[in-house]
Amino acid sequence: MSFSELLNDSEVGKQLDTMTKSDRLPHAIVLESRDKELAQKIAVEISKVFFCSADIKPCGKCSGCFKAEKGIHPDLYRVEITDGKQAVGVGEIRAMISDCYIKPNEASNKVYFISDKMTTEAQNALLKILEEPPPGIKFVIISESSTLLLQTIRSRCTLFKLTASGSADENELNEKALAAAREIAKAIPDNMELPLMLAVTKLSKDKALTQRTLEKLSEIICESIEEKYMPTGTRPQYIQDIARSLRRRSLLCLMDVIIKAQTMLSQNCNMNLLTTWLCANIRQSRHAKGGYNG
Ligand SMILES: [Zn+2]
Repeated sequence: MSFSELLNDSEVGKQLDTMTKSDRLPHAIVLESRDKELAQKIAVEISKVFFCSADIKPCGKCSGCFKAEKGIHPDLYRVEITDGKQAVGVGEIRAMISDCYIKPNEASNKVYFISDKMTTEAQNALLKILEEPPPGIKFVIISESSTLLLQTIRSRCTLFKLTASGSADENELNEKALAAAREIAKAIPDNMELPLMLAVTKLSKDKALTQRTLEKLSEIICESIEEKYMPTGTRPQYIQDIARSLRRRSLLCLMDVIIKAQTMLSQNCNMNLLTTWLCANIRQSRHAKGGYNG
């Protein structure tokens, strides 16, 4: 099946097909999708292209294609989170790098599927091999949200944003994030511990949603700061409430809290820790003292 068929005739599908036909699939790819199954399917299809022995790849019939499809190709490696850990560590990446210098078993290429959930140290260890891999070494990073990867990693890879059904995926994420950010924002003026905790803990299992919610929340706080100094009275009620009940230094402190949370997220910190930290620091920010004038 062509990439276009798998991706409902999307631009990304056509792009992947063109690259495949002209033998120009990049050696370092990030597949971004909220749909993990879809990302896996496309990653497998890419590995077939690299393992196929026919002239027109992927033929879907040769031993390389067959083994890739079944996930049993001896030149396919998966770098994933091991039991009990939160992220792929530097040890796993170093082991993978050593393996890159060993010749393939059967095919002329080796393919590494890598989870996007890596520690900062692991991501830094990955940089050099992404830039200058040995011949025939291919990387496919499977990512829920490429913003979770370090900029230095993203700049060394070709990003493909996968959507099976137009941009419905993206719209859904935006809507969920906006709803979550509003819920958190509404709990801020009264400093209500329980509603705040409930709103924040809803995020804890979904990194891409957390990332997007933090972006929306920072927009809300920015608007609240504007409302405080140039009241319009026309902004949504929750923004007016925040502007009225928090001092300027508290609002600035809230912005800092959000920025710090975004950094923690990009470093793949433990999600439970992050949500607990976020709750505590949003609550404390209203008592912010010093550091800021206002
Ligand atoms: Zn084949």
